[in-house]
Amino acid sequence: KLVEGESLRKKLHNTILELKGNIRVFCRVRPLLFDDGADHETKAVSFPTTTDNLGRGIELLQHGQKHSFTFDKVFVPESSQEEVFEEVSQLVQSALDGYKVCIFAYGQTGSGKTHTMMGTPGNYDDKGLIPRSLEQIFEAKQTLQNQGWKYEMQVSMLEIYNETIRDLLSTTRPLTESSGTKQYSIKHDANGNTHVSDLTILDVRSSREVSFLLNRAAQSRSVGKTQMNEQSSRSHFVFTLRISGYNESTEQQVQGVLNLIDLAGSERLSKSGSTGDRLKETQAINKSLSSLSDVIFALARKEDHVPFRNSKLTYLLQPCLGGDSKTLMVVNVSPAPSSINESLCSLRFASRVNACEIGTPRRQTSARQMDSRLSYG
Ligand code: ADP
Ligand code: MG
Repeated sequence: KLVEGESLRKKLHNTILELKGNIRVFCRVRPLLFDDGADHETKAVSFPTTTDNLGRGIELLQHGQKHSFTFDKVFVPESSQEEVFEEVSQLVQSALDGYKVCIFAYGQTGSGKTHTMMGTPGNYDDKGLIPRSLEQIFEAKQTLQNQGWKYEMQVSMLEIYNETIRDLLSTTRPLTESSGTKQYSIKHDANGNTHVSDLTILDVRSSREVSFLLNRAAQSRSVGKTQMNEQSSRSHFVFTLRISGYNESTEQQVQGVLNLIDLAGSERLSKSGSTGDRLKETQAINKSLSSLSDVIFALARKEDHVPFRNSKLTYLLQPCLGGDSKTLMVVNVSPAPSSINESLCSLRFASRVNACEIGTPRRQTSARQMDSRLSYG
């Protein structure tokens, strides 16, 4: 009897996961830039318009061979920051309802990840997902107050470089785990909350306050950059907003988390060509990006073992991946003919993730696509 009850409960639980499980993949192609040095007539990327995948299809031309992909949404070079945000605003909003949300920007260096997440410094009209999300959340917080909701918000910002965490909001000298003084050990409690020891977590009351902190984090990153050669493209940036809400009249309580992640550049770095620190960096990036896709894949296939512990990034985000959390991967690609090989790799990686939307059978090709993406150098 007990076993029966247990398996029924498990079945029910799985059904709930199936209904709620939510992994979406968007693709964004940036405009050609002067620096791409491309002849602007050469079209390496196109957007087929058929009725069944309107706004969702993308085609790449490599050595005369056409590669077609479909995603939940494809943003063309002309798509504005506002258009992109429109498509994610609901997802962002769900963090206020108590969901755990992760939005990743994936792509090779120079493909537009930081533009998508943060925007271009000095051009604030063009602000990206992070500032827009914060504005929306604090605006909604104001509105929900009239319905009896009280929210408390906290932010942390960190960087994962070479599998070590760096606290970007630390007011003391930026310390890494490896410098010995701080540990930054990651622990998850029974309520699905993540605790990183020694990490600075600050209460915030307005989007302006968060903007100020984002600037501080950016400065902290660039300080490290001179020490650790172009660290920003070789490290993952993780912005976390913790939201706890309480409704006095209904006594409802919610705990949401919004993670916005600017991933390290996904360009394939050959192991054979690199030595010393560069080799260590390369291995760390390869490891964490492939761990991320392994985790998403294992979750979607409901495997008993999900390899969260294979990288700092996946372990840190463990409670926010899978279950009833919501994940969005924005795959950024450059349209430049010179980047076509990397763009193809990114799209293949993304379609592997896309193919594992919970409840959707895997596509035949995904295993092969996985090989081509994940066998480095
Ligand atoms: P990444 O963070 O992936 O290395 P960036 O976001 O820094 O790439 O983008 C590289 C360059 O391309 C920057 O100069 C950026 O301003 C520009 N860029 C990227 N995406 C767009 C876009 N959608 N529209 C206009 N410029 C863009
Ligand atoms: Mg960047």
